Amino acid sequence: MKASASFRLVAPDTGEAYAPDAPRWRSASGALLDLDIQPVFDPDLMRRRPPGMWRYLEALPLLDPDRRIELGETATPLVPLRLDGQEVHVKLDYLFPSGSYKDRGAALLISHARALGIGQVVQDSSGNAGCAVAQYCAAAGIACDIFVPGDTSPSKLRQIAAYGAQIRLVPGTREDTAAAALQAAASTYYASHVWNPFFLHGTKTFAYELCEQLDWQAPDTVVLPAGNGTLLLGCEIGFRELYAAGLIGHVPALVGVQALACAPLIVAQAPGTPGAQPAGPTLAEGIAIAAPRRQAQMLAAATGGLVGVSEAAIADTLRLLCGMGYFVEPTSAAVIAGVRQYLAERARPGERIATVLTGHGLKAADKIAKMLEMKDMLDTHPQI
Ligand SMILES: *Cc1c(COP(=O)(O)O)cnc(C)c1O
Repeated sequence: MKASASFRLVAPDTGEAYAPDAPRWRSASGALLDLDIQPVFDPDLMRRRPPGMWRYLEALPLLDPDRRIELGETATPLVPLRLDGQEVHVKLDYLFPSGSYKDRGAALLISHARALGIGQVVQDSSGNAGCAVAQYCAAAGIACDIFVPGDTSPSKLRQIAAYGAQIRLVPGTREDTAAAALQAAASTYYASHVWNPFFLHGTKTFAYELCEQLDWQAPDTVVLPAGNGTLLLGCEIGFRELYAAGLIGHVPALVGVQALACAPLIVAQAPGTPGAQPAGPTLAEGIAIAAPRRQAQMLAAATGGLVGVSEAAIADTLRLLCGMGYFVEPTSAAVIAGVRQYLAERARPGERIATVLTGHGLKAADKIAKMLEMKDMLDTHPQI
């Protein structure tokens, strides 16, 4: 088999290394794996292909590029958005086929699983990663079990089931769900967006696409969600690769956004931040990760620091976005609330800022309706 970019699997903490076609998602000693990859960028070749993540084929870790799974994941639009009087660039990743940017990672990861000849995978998710993996497994003819917490949005469960995936509801916390999936993964392939490094080499195409859409003039700052950090870590890889290839003149600062109600990174980095809780329920279910597996990597990737947003700010920003014509998930509103806070407290005049709308509002329509009715209550009780 010929690889697209040449690559191998490596465990950064222990130095263990594996061939590209090793069916591994963690090392023999149980450590996290990353990919050691030599990406190639050929601008002429790229320009001749349709827009979207696959135009960067020589920079992706694909064992069999011709057998990748495509579902029309074209380049997402980059639009200017005026927030509190300042313009930022926003990438509309909620327009992916399954309704969230998780398709970038799942498309690459499940293409890899198929190239390995894997017939069954397990995965765990609070919703959107499960939708994306189930979608590409359906297209690839791979059986898939998705472990989800008991409180997952019903519409996301219906979407996962509609693709034909087996749903395994796990009572308890998000961490209990991860533990159950980990146990099942002992005997199958773990298509985890957290453990499996191929996912991050799909999400890195966000950075490629953004820079190409800006004529390779990288923004100064990119504001991203920080739940499990799959977009944050993908961007860290993507921008670094573009810089090493000489395609951009600097690596943007990356700012991670957490909900104050569930802010393990903020608590670890800045203990005593007012209102910051290590774990707790939040309207931003997509970033409610109390113990992110790649926390140390996320803290290193967030070179522009972290921002914590209140529940009131999330609800307020969701209302603002809907009023501007963007029907997105509450989690997406949390990221934009983080941008607004960054603009108010830390941005320099003229700073070029980019960000993302991550998930489609149709996935959480009931919750959004309730939140917008709750607005007055949130104004008087900002800690709800
Ligand atoms: C997964 C997700 C996020 C957060 O991404 P992480 O990779 O966990 O940091 C943000 N928004 C939506 C809609 C998501 O599905």
